[in-house]
Amino acid sequence: NTTVVLFTSDLRLHDHPPLRAALGAADRVVPLFVRDDGIDAAGFACPNRRAFLADCLTDLDEGLRDRGGRLVVRSGDVVEGVRAVAHEADAEEVHMAAGVSGYAHAREERLRTALEKDGRALRVHDAVVTALAPGAVVPSGGDHFAVFTPYHRRWSQQEIRGVLAAPRTVLVPDGIRSEPVPSRAEAEKAGGVSEGLAAGGEREARRRLTAWTRGGLAHYDERHDDLAGDATSRLSPHLHFGTLSPAEAVHRARAVGGPGAEAFVRQVCWRDFHHQVLAARQDAAAADYRPRHDRWRPETEALADIEAWKAGRTGYPVVDAAMRQLRHEGWMHNRGRLLAASFLTKTLYVDWRVGARYFLELLVDGDLANNQLNWQWVAGTGTDTRPNRVLNPVRQAHRYDPDGTYVRRWVPELEEVGGSAVHEPWKLPDDDRARLDYPGPIVELGEGLARFKEGRGTAG
Ligand code: FAD
Repeated sequence: NTTVVLFTSDLRLHDHPPLRAALGAADRVVPLFVRDDGIDAAGFACPNRRAFLADCLTDLDEGLRDRGGRLVVRSGDVVEGVRAVAHEADAEEVHMAAGVSGYAHAREERLRTALEKDGRALRVHDAVVTALAPGAVVPSGGDHFAVFTPYHRRWSQQEIRGVLAAPRTVLVPDGIRSEPVPSRAEAEKAGGVSEGLAAGGEREARRRLTAWTRGGLAHYDERHDDLAGDATSRLSPHLHFGTLSPAEAVHRARAVGGPGAEAFVRQVCWRDFHHQVLAARQDAAAADYRPRHDRWRPETEALADIEAWKAGRTGYPVVDAAMRQLRHEGWMHNRGRLLAASFLTKTLYVDWRVGARYFLELLVDGDLANNQLNWQWVAGTGTDTRPNRVLNPVRQAHRYDPDGTYVRRWVPELEEVGGSAVHEPWKLPDDDRARLDYPGPIVELGEGLARFKEGRGTAG
């Protein structure tokens, strides 16, 4: 007999409960990926993620071939794609990972209904895309945690299941048609891919995890905010595409132990936290989680400021450096994300949705749960218990990029400005400043703060 495994945000062979279950239930398995045109229609696709995804699918196909199988690729409507393959393979069951977004929930429901109509069953597996399933950690009397600290406490007490080994063999039935596996070259030819985009795929994820646990992890607690040091794991795109299992990341870090590992596991817990918020409040992808006001500056009025922010020409060097890193790599340091998002929402007073949308156009780890809920956290409409805090980009720059190395790396116009003076080019002598092809600040910080306070006063 045959089963189908539908891969979505879990593009790996190690620690893969749906694949394990499918192999336990049948002697033949069809590993299926559907290039779902619904994802494009919903605006979730972008060139960087498409290119990274191509790497992931190529690697998954190679991993399956090493085990005697192959990946089957289809495109179009995901439900129709799965139905067709299940019919061709005469499969009784389809296995897949549970998702958290509204889109994922709707997909699951449509699949279940369609397959049942055909006399087949859909088996959905929890705790594949997160370390713990959203429903596994809930407060008494509620459906989800709205504050991180108590969530973290409870999450840390729960046991995370053991890591499942990758299967030795995966036998695929003959005669199942596949489209070509998308290639990175093809994705790059289509344009819009960041020059410094990282490589995807499970093998790359595992190589990175091993290097991380032997290297940077031990100092993560002290160094994670050092902008120039780049001392974070850069595992986020792998966790997003599921080339790395979050449960395995936690186990491997805990095996190393120490304050670095503890701080890292806490960040993976943040990821689970945002996923459980979105699973319970699917509308938080677009609507304010905690409605505070509706007085953001109209986009039309703030157009020039928004364009300067996107282009990395706000005149605040650390914000500009972060925005240019985003464009160049399709990735941004977490401290940069915090500063760039705080600047847009609390200094320029622009709606967080504008910023979140732009991040999703570029981020290789662009993720509905993590992106939207981090944006809301910064904007003060989300789960931050201090929603009115405003990050001062100058003070933050001195603190997290003390000698200006990060800024000079990404803003070549300021290359010649030595030391921390690079954070406040407006203080340079007139002659020196005039020689720089770099804009003055587009807004005074005091003016921005006043606008924020005024808006907050009208909070609903
Ligand atoms: P590390 O510091 O090595 O952390 C390890 C892992 O923990 C990360 O890979 C990530 O999966 C998780 N993690 C770390 N910080 C957070 C956090 N604050 N929230 C949730 N998970 C976290 N992360 C995304 O994965 N996708 C996004 O689209 C995204 N958008 C963001 C938007 C804004 C405005 C902000 C402030 C943060 C956003 N983050 C997002 C969270 C965080 O910035 C990135 O996960 C992190 O920078 C990725 O780098 P890393 O893998 O080296 O992280």
